Amino acid sequence: MTPRPILVVEDEPKLAALLCDYLRASGYAPHAVADGHGALAAFAALAPAVVLLDLNLPGLDGLEVCRRLRRASDVPILMLTARVDEVDRLLGLEIGADDYLCKPYSPREVVARVRALLRRADGALAGGAGQRASVGGFLFDEPGLRAWWRDRALPLTPVEFRLLRALLQPPGRVLARAQLLDAIHADFRDVSDRAVDSHVKNLRRKLQAALPEHDGIVSVYGLGYRFDLPLDEPAAAVALAGAKAGTDGSA
Ligand code: CA
Repeated sequence: MTPRPILVVEDEPKLAALLCDYLRASGYAPHAVADGHGALAAFAALAPAVVLLDLNLPGLDGLEVCRRLRRASDVPILMLTARVDEVDRLLGLEIGADDYLCKPYSPREVVARVRALLRRADGALAGGAGQRASVGGFLFDEPGLRAWWRDRALPLTPVEFRLLRALLQPPGRVLARAQLLDAIHADFRDVSDRAVDSHVKNLRRKLQAALPEHDGIVSVYGLGYRFDLPLDEPAAAVALAGAKAGTDGSA
C-alpha cells in the first residue's frame, strides 16, 4: 500500500524533522512546510490525508490557514498550539479544526491522533454501509459521524455530532455537563465544562440554521441541557438501520 501523505506545517525545523521521522516510521509519507502560504500550495499539490498545523506561523498564521483549508476541504486538521486559551475557538465553528494538541506534546501522541483522525475519515467514507439511527426527524450515521434533519445534512463537527446524539438518546432527558463531557470524551481529553457550553452554543447555531422554527436545545439552569423534539415529531420513533438515507440498511 502506498504510504498516505501527511502535510506537516511547522516553522521550527527541529520539531518538523522530529514529527516527520515519527510519521515516516509509522508508515506515512510526511511532507513539511514552514509557513502558511507554503501550506496552502503544498495542500493543493499533495492532497494530504491529514494536516498537522502549527498555530503560530510566520506570514499567514495557523488560524487563517485552517479557515481557508476548511472552506475548500473536509481534510482532518490537527492543530498544534502552545495557546490553551485558543482551544475552544480552534474546534469551534469559526475555525473548524478536528483535534488539537498543546505544546509540549510527544511525537508519539501526534502519531496516535493522526491514526485516530484517519480512522474517523475512513469511517465517514464508508458510512453508507454503517449503522444508522433515526430519532424524531433526525438521522444519524454513527460511524461516519454525520447527521441529517429531514434529509438536510447538518454540518456538525465530531464533537457537535456526539453532543446532539447524546441529547437525543432519548430526547427530553436532562443531561448534566459532566455527562455531555463523557459523551464527547472519546477524542477530546482536555475539554472543560465551559467548552461544553461553547460546543452547545455552536451546535445550537447550526440547528437554528436547519430548523429555524425549532432549535430544540433547552438549558436547564444549574443542571445542564435537554433536547425537546418538535411537538409533531413522534419521540418514540427510534429505529436502527438506514430507513431514510437511500441504503437498505440490512447490513
Ligand atoms: Ca511556530
